[in-house]
Amino acid sequence: MFSYNSIQNYHTNLLNGRTTCVEAVEYYLQKISVSAHLNVWLEVFADEALEKALQLDLLREMGHPLGKLHGVVIGIKDVICYKDHKLSASSKILENFTSVYSATATQKILDEGAIIVGRQNCDEFAMGSSNENSAYGAVKNAIDEERVPGGSSGGSAVAVQAGMCMISLGSDTGGSVRQPADFCGIVGFKPSYGTISRYGLIAYASSFDQIGILACCVEDVQTVLKVIAGQDEFDSTVFQNYLLKEPIGTQENKYRFCYFSNALEHSSLDPQIASSIQQFIESLKVEGHTVAPVEFDLLDYIVPAYYVLTTAEASSNLSRYDGIKYGARSTQNTEDITTLYKQTRSKAFGPEVKRRILLGTFVLSAGYFDAYFTKAQQVRKLLTLKTQELFKDFDAIILPTVPTPAFKLGEKKNDPIEMFLADIYTVYANLVGIPGISIPLFNTKEGLPFGLQLMTSQQNDLLLLRLSNLLTKLSGRQPA
Ligand code: GLN
Repeated sequence: MFSYNSIQNYHTNLLNGRTTCVEAVEYYLQKISVSAHLNVWLEVFADEALEKALQLDLLREMGHPLGKLHGVVIGIKDVICYKDHKLSASSKILENFTSVYSATATQKILDEGAIIVGRQNCDEFAMGSSNENSAYGAVKNAIDEERVPGGSSGGSAVAVQAGMCMISLGSDTGGSVRQPADFCGIVGFKPSYGTISRYGLIAYASSFDQIGILACCVEDVQTVLKVIAGQDEFDSTVFQNYLLKEPIGTQENKYRFCYFSNALEHSSLDPQIASSIQQFIESLKVEGHTVAPVEFDLLDYIVPAYYVLTTAEASSNLSRYDGIKYGARSTQNTEDITTLYKQTRSKAFGPEVKRRILLGTFVLSAGYFDAYFTKAQQVRKLLTLKTQELFKDFDAIILPTVPTPAFKLGEKKNDPIEMFLADIYTVYANLVGIPGISIPLFNTKEGLPFGLQLMTSQQNDLLLLRLSNLLTKLSGRQPA
């Protein structure tokens, strides 16, 4: 019987003849079919995946060296282009749209032998925190099917959680990889802004967006990151000459952590989450690490700045969906093009996307630009400066990932402000461009998982992964 715990182990098993890529793909297709009610997949590439597995098995038997992701079964969030495959962003406006090229990240995983098994459900245009904003219905959390999986990469998180693929690629503009990973009890990693090319990633808010990795262990995240990171002639925001910096060990590997004291005392934070993290901090101190509280006086400005800036960028990015260039077009009879735009966009965008386009247009409008957009940019600058100062004294920041564990489907649907506020701990990393990860260290007494969020300074992604390994070991938790 096929079982999986890491890419490295899987490769050892392949080389020893204990399993084959075909066996792996058949195993995952079976899991996908019994879990269809979770609504994770918008499309499964079953035949293609099996065919590729067969080819890989043959190549291996002929003695070809293994690609770094040889036979690794990967699902991709439906905002990442895969040439000649459909791409919808879980929106009706892209219904029947087919990618004409592959994202750089997609191409890189394919070049290393990955098998892409399907495209995953998400919030429409990656806007949301519960996956309830998908035009193709909500995704259910496999631990408790009455609960949300988080969002916007909800399908990607449940796919890993419920063992329907080895790895998922998601996107994280304000927490969309880390938050669903937290709700589903898996690892979710967002790299530094500029680490992975955004070429072929559908844009939500371009100065925030990054492709992220969802996996069952930190080791797998590192393997995939090393494949997909790096310069790309199609995305000038990727760090030039950026090599993932190998972290330098500190003396006896003792590190300096800080946490935001006002975040851990925040009224919105579930007391079980607060106390688990406090206890964990104490155990870090016992191990000889430094953990210091920092009063982060800009905390309350983080969510407003994020929603002003991302909606502004979204209103501009989404103007391209006009019924002419891409996807769906209104079939109502009309004489003029403006009416055609209006009809198409009114009909084919969902309510959350419309809300954000309207908000973004408002904050960019002549009368309000300085009051909102400029102000929010100033907040972003202050946050960045403050963060740079912090990393002079500390190696990493500890925060909760989300203030509460997974909530019930429908519970927050009618309260957008409450939904927005719950992004308080994740959007910070995107505002300042640093890497962040959610590692599944805890459970509530009701058995719901939640994670610890860790962040390091920009371009220190590998240090972040090393620390995540260290903390996972310390917690005594086996990778899921
Ligand atoms: N929940 C956040 C939002 O709705 C984050 C989304 C994301 O990271 N794509 O904007």
